Amino acid sequence: MVTAPESVELRDEPIPAAGPGDVVVRVGACGLCTMERRLFLGEKRFYPVAPGHEVAGTVVEVGAAVDGLPGSPKAGDVVTVDLLTRCGTCGPCRRGRSALCKRPQGGTLSDGTVSFGAGLSDLVVVKAAQAYVTGDAPIEHAAMGEPVACVVHSLRLGGLRAGDRVAVIGAGYMGRLHMSVARLKGAFSVGMVDVSEERLTEASTAGAGWTATPDRAAETGGKQDLVFVTAGAPGALETAISLCDDGGTVVLYGAFPKDLSVGVNPDAIHHHELSIVGVYSQEPEDWREAAGLIASGRLADDLSALVTARFALDDVGEALKLAATTPVYRVLVGGIDG
Ligand SMILES: [Zn+2]
Ligand SMILES: [Zn+2]
Repeated sequence: MVTAPESVELRDEPIPAAGPGDVVVRVGACGLCTMERRLFLGEKRFYPVAPGHEVAGTVVEVGAAVDGLPGSPKAGDVVTVDLLTRCGTCGPCRRGRSALCKRPQGGTLSDGTVSFGAGLSDLVVVKAAQAYVTGDAPIEHAAMGEPVACVVHSLRLGGLRAGDRVAVIGAGYMGRLHMSVARLKGAFSVGMVDVSEERLTEASTAGAGWTATPDRAAETGGKQDLVFVTAGAPGALETAISLCDDGGTVVLYGAFPKDLSVGVNPDAIHHHELSIVGVYSQEPEDWREAAGLIASGRLADDLSALVTARFALDDVGEALKLAATTPVYRVLVGGIDG
């Protein structure tokens, strides 16, 4: 758990037991995401807290009600785990939009400490319905299930079709995953836009059709059918709209500063049939597809290129420090000896 800015502590918890519909998963790897980085830096002050929501591991115990149920994970399966609590009963859940569930997220440890996943640990317990088998894929790839599910969700709500010209603003981890999945799903071309020349070079190596800084994007990439904004910086929406061809769609994936407002030209949106779509989180069908894509092995080279480092759980402080202070793609924790 993170107990204060730059302060991390490992605590002993009772061994979790599987309820009737649960599985217990021995954590093989847990990715460090924005929330962990912000907690460690003190940008988000909420202590103590047990974060870690990008978990994959091996099923070690199966609840009585799901044991032997066809299609449900079995002991020994490697799974990627959805740790969101989807209540199923609030308005958005009933409309099939469980990414927007109104029930407060998170749980508690045995002493009442708040957990947001608590995946930086040896074991997690989760509903079997929220554990997705990833076959023979390496554990580092399985641990990317949550971010890949977010990208599948983003492409689904954005309406990606094979043959689309795609641009991605932001060539960090989430931008690169957008590029990989869009290419796999048949995008005609995927261009990457970023302020960092280093990241553009790396995106090029990974298969970007073209790369450009934001000021050069229009002349380099031309008009696009779909523009994903994965880095919510001031100016990004305007750049995205300027890249859209008639009938195009801008997808706002990355978080923007809360108080940022920008002017858009409603008549241009009307006359050119532009769409602006917000996307957030993921839903069960996105998880199913993400686990399938990971299991297929067809993203393997791309996912391997995005593993910056892997640390033992004992070295979680070092892992958080690296993720919080250096530009990284993904830092993973767990499943190896320190
Ligand atoms: Zn995440
Ligand atoms: Zn709900």
